[in-house]
Amino acid sequence: MTGIDDLPIRDELRGKSPYGAPQLDVPVRLNTNENPYPLPEPLVARIAERVAEAARGLNRYPDRDAVELRTELARYLSRTAGLEVGVAQVWAANGSNEVLQQLLQAFGGPGRTAMGFEPSYSMHALISRSTGTGWISGPRSADFTIDVDAARKAIAEHRPDVLFITSPNNPTGTAVEAETVLALHDAAQAARADAAGALVVVDEAYGEFSHRPSLLPLIEGRPRLVLSRTMSKAFGAAGLRLGYLAADPAVVDAVQLVRLPYHLSAVTQATALAALEHTDTLLGYVDALKAERDRLVAELRTLGCEVTDSDANFVQFGRFEDAHAAWQGLLDRGVLVRDNGVPGWLRVTAGTPAENDAFLDAVRELMKEKS
Ligand code: PMP
Repeated sequence: MTGIDDLPIRDELRGKSPYGAPQLDVPVRLNTNENPYPLPEPLVARIAERVAEAARGLNRYPDRDAVELRTELARYLSRTAGLEVGVAQVWAANGSNEVLQQLLQAFGGPGRTAMGFEPSYSMHALISRSTGTGWISGPRSADFTIDVDAARKAIAEHRPDVLFITSPNNPTGTAVEAETVLALHDAAQAARADAAGALVVVDEAYGEFSHRPSLLPLIEGRPRLVLSRTMSKAFGAAGLRLGYLAADPAVVDAVQLVRLPYHLSAVTQATALAALEHTDTLLGYVDALKAERDRLVAELRTLGCEVTDSDANFVQFGRFEDAHAAWQGLLDRGVLVRDNGVPGWLRVTAGTPAENDAFLDAVRELMKEKS
């Protein structure tokens, strides 16, 4: 049988496995930071309408620049994220993963490096590698915040071309202060003052769940600062695959050099536009999930777990001598959470109240066993 390594595959891909959490069929799935609420029926009906309309034109390529969709995304950000932005400042792609890939294709690449503060979203490193960009793992404190002095030192030493700041951070849930983002942005520009500076990507995939306001206003007057967002979490539309960025119009011009023509299908654009018409209903679910997230933090602490403060729709909890055994113990009780490989810690996504109750019952049993 032919294996991958028998093929003339790129050397750096030999022996690698594809990224992805297990998709197991268990009663309570709280492992991939999805929104547990299905889209409301009136929105499902509106999607069907919009998609039917799009279907009549599927013999043609879609709007290559997705102008209507970007206009609506700009309106959404302007209304909710603290800064008025226009269509020229917004770009959209198939999930924020594709947004990040396009940014690395344009600003990373062979001979260049990207840096992030780990543990963080592991796709930052993986997309860096797959675009030929060197990866540098920056430091994080024991409480999972970013120590500005240590981070500044690492930036000055490694002089990354691209700097990732994830806020709220995955898998820890930790939000990053605006002052920290500004300090790291300035350090990254200073380190590459001899080139054209560095691109700083604030990954705000979980921004809507934060106790704090969005970091969007920081892009003003900083053409090298990019905010990345997604409809996968707050809009409850992980299956849609729609991510977007807000930045200086020059950044949008730059990603257009690497995007595939017609990368966003007409069906995707129609579906996303329908979802944006129902923003207020969907943000109502976000409020419910934030309350459940806060309840998970409080109750896990009552059960004797250590819990990292969370600004996301998930919670990092521990500490377990053997996190993988604890993960298995919860799975045996019908609850799937995520083992991100952070020693001692697991991550649970906030689900419906019933799912969270089932999870908390399973943890209660596990903690009893432990003591
Ligand atoms: N950024 C972060 C921090 C994430 O956790 C995720 C999804 N897990 C993404 C980006 C990518 O999300 P999507 O491609 O669905 O927009």
